[in-house]
Amino acid sequence: MGGAEEKYVKEAFDTNWIAPLGNNVNEFENQVKEFTGTKAACALSSGTGGIHIALDLLDVGQGDFVFCSSLTFIASANPILYLGAEPVFIDSDLDSWNMSPVALKKAFEDYASKGQLPKAVVIVNLYGQSAKMDELMAICDEYGVAVVEDAAESLGSRYKGKMSGTFGKFGIYSFNGNKIITTSGGGMIVSDDEEMIQKALKKATQSRDQAVHYQHSEVGYNYRLSNISAGIGRGQMEVLEKRVEQKRAIFDRYVEALDHIDGIEFMPELENTLHNRWLSTLTVDSEKLGVTAAEIIEKLAKLNVEARPVWKPMHMQPLFAECDYYSEEQDNSKYLFETGICLPSDTKMTAEDQESVIERIREKIHG
Ligand SMILES: *Cc1c(COP(=O)(O)O)cnc(C)c1O
Repeated sequence: MGGAEEKYVKEAFDTNWIAPLGNNVNEFENQVKEFTGTKAACALSSGTGGIHIALDLLDVGQGDFVFCSSLTFIASANPILYLGAEPVFIDSDLDSWNMSPVALKKAFEDYASKGQLPKAVVIVNLYGQSAKMDELMAICDEYGVAVVEDAAESLGSRYKGKMSGTFGKFGIYSFNGNKIITTSGGGMIVSDDEEMIQKALKKATQSRDQAVHYQHSEVGYNYRLSNISAGIGRGQMEVLEKRVEQKRAIFDRYVEALDHIDGIEFMPELENTLHNRWLSTLTVDSEKLGVTAAEIIEKLAKLNVEARPVWKPMHMQPLFAECDYYSEEQDNSKYLFETGICLPSDTKMTAEDQESVIERIREKIHG
């Protein structure tokens, strides 16, 4: 926590607005709108709920196809299943680790030739890196298909000076406990289409019609953020920029200490972008190092250092075994999964803590 969270939570208690309604929710939404430069925002109980509502508002339903980044956390893809639609997974490129414009184009050409254009494309900004939005948006615009930007991990990142999460029809942020800022659990859907965000708000509150009695004309969800959680969010927004700086400093220290080792390659930062470095990630060349990513992770665990693999791609998940997948010439997302490591990146970690983590990594790589 940054410091001001308790004050805003107390405000909710003092005014007795504990419900998913109240000043903290409004203020938190205003902060996110202002920070991202979007016209409208709706606070939700999770980022997953945001993706669900966005796809629902884009009319995704039974029998529809939705293109989605393969290298991601499953929350990007689950809402496609909630709506009875079918995901088609798209590979990453190696300079961004995000959706490859080459693979996306292949998928569009193929599906267009079958007369089966997708209803939406979910583009993920992994570990805080913005995807190649110019190239990806151009392809989606060419086919007239709307984009949902999964920016759950990339709040605070910039692509060509514009905030990550503000390129698609909808952007989604997450405030889950592990994200760059947190409300313990929560999310936000943003858009420049104010009418659509009004609809999102309605969907998130059981789609109640404007009537004194309880009347409903369409399906809805219970996805609104509580005024308590929003109070935490208000305090967290005040420290977001500082968190990005801290995360970037953590990444820089890892680079300085490890980048010269032949066989280690850090996740790149696209030109003209600012990567929030939510997690510091790298890939290892096991032939050069004589040790695989999985072995390093296992050895570090024994030293009480919690490193993690990179997300297991969706096209490799048992749940999605039947789904279509478009890769670049080589399967990059599989390669990143097999060679990638997420290093400890918590901003509570002091420079000395990190130094000791780095020492143990060096030890395990060399021995
Ligand atoms: C965390 C995350 C989500 C989901 O957010 P929740 O708030 O946990 O529902 C979606 N996509 C990605 C890539 C995430 O990392």
